[in-house]
Amino acid sequence: QKQEWAKLKDEATVTSEGDHVELVANIGTPDDVEGVLNNGGEGVGLYRTEFLYMGKSQLPTEEEQFDAYSSVLKQMGDKPVVVRTLDIGGDKELDYLDLPEEMNPFLGYRAIRLCLERDDIFRVQLRALLRASVNGNLKIMFPMIATLEEFRQAKAILDEERANLKEEGHDVSEDIEVGMMVEIPATAVIARQFAKEVDFFSIGTNDLIQYTMAADRMNERVSYLYQPYNPAILNLVNNVIEAAHAEGKWAGMCGEMAGDEIAIPLLLGLGLDEFSMSATSILPARTQIRDLSRKEWTSYKEEILSMGTAEEVVAFVKEKTQSK
Ligand code: PEP
Ligand code: MG
Repeated sequence: QKQEWAKLKDEATVTSEGDHVELVANIGTPDDVEGVLNNGGEGVGLYRTEFLYMGKSQLPTEEEQFDAYSSVLKQMGDKPVVVRTLDIGGDKELDYLDLPEEMNPFLGYRAIRLCLERDDIFRVQLRALLRASVNGNLKIMFPMIATLEEFRQAKAILDEERANLKEEGHDVSEDIEVGMMVEIPATAVIARQFAKEVDFFSIGTNDLIQYTMAADRMNERVSYLYQPYNPAILNLVNNVIEAAHAEGKWAGMCGEMAGDEIAIPLLLGLGLDEFSMSATSILPARTQIRDLSRKEWTSYKEEILSMGTAEEVVAFVKEKTQSK
C-alpha cells in the first residue's frame, strides 16, 4: 500500500471524474515543511504559529518571526501557505504573559480576543508576516473569530501595518488573501454575512465540534458527544461552504476531520475545496479521493443533511463505500 501511495506523491489530487481538490498540510514549525513536500502536500493549510511563542522566556522578535515565516514560504515556493495568527490562551499558556486564571479558559480570553486587546503583540506578528510575504504565496487567517467586528478590526490593523511598512520603504506583496477560521458556531450560522468580507474560510472542526456540542475536546467523560459526523456539524459545514461559494470564495478545513476516512466522502459531497491535514495523511487521502465521485457524493447531500444521528451518517458512508 505504501508503494501505491508513493506513486501519487507528485500527482494532482483528483476525484474519479477528474475534479481537482487541494490536499495541504498542517504544520507547527519551519522544520515540518520537509515532511509536507516528501508527502506530496500541495501547500500548507494551517501554520500554527504558537510554537514560536512557546517554551521561551519572552515574546519572539519581529526578526525571529520574519525568519521563520520566510523560511516556510521559500521552501514552499509558489505553493500556498496559510499562516494563522497567534492562537494562545485556552489550553495553550505563555508563562511570560501572566494571564489571569479563568473559570472556562476555552470560553475565555484567547486568540484574536487577546490579539485585539494586546495589539502591541499582534502588530509585531503582522509586520513580520507582511515583510515575509514577498518570499512566497502567503495567506493570512485569524483564529477564533466570533463577530464581524472582530474580523474587521483585525483586518484594519493589518492594513495599518501594511501602510506603515510601505512608508518605511519595505516591499509587501499586493495579493495576500485574508481569511478566518470558522470554529465558533456563531460564525458558521451567519457565514453568508462573513463571506462578503473574507477572502476564504478554513473550518476548524477541533473547536467547532466542541463548541457546537458543548463537549470539552479534552474531557474523556463527555467524549461520546464529540461527534464529527453529527448532522449538526455537517449542516454547519455545509452552510459555510455554500456561503463561500455564493460569494465566489473558497472554503477549506484544517481540523482533524479533514483527514478522516469517513469524513472525506461527506466533505467532497458538500463541496469542500481544500483539505488540510497532518502530512502523513496526505497520500492515503489522495489515494482514497481517486476512487470517489464528487458527483455521486453531492447527490447524497440532502439525504445526509436530513439524517438524525451520527450513527446513521456513518452507516450510510460505510454502506456506499463498501458496495464498490
Ligand atoms: C481547530 O480548532 O480545528 C484547529 C485547527 O485549531 P486548533 O486545533 O489549533 O485549535
Ligand atoms: Mg482551534
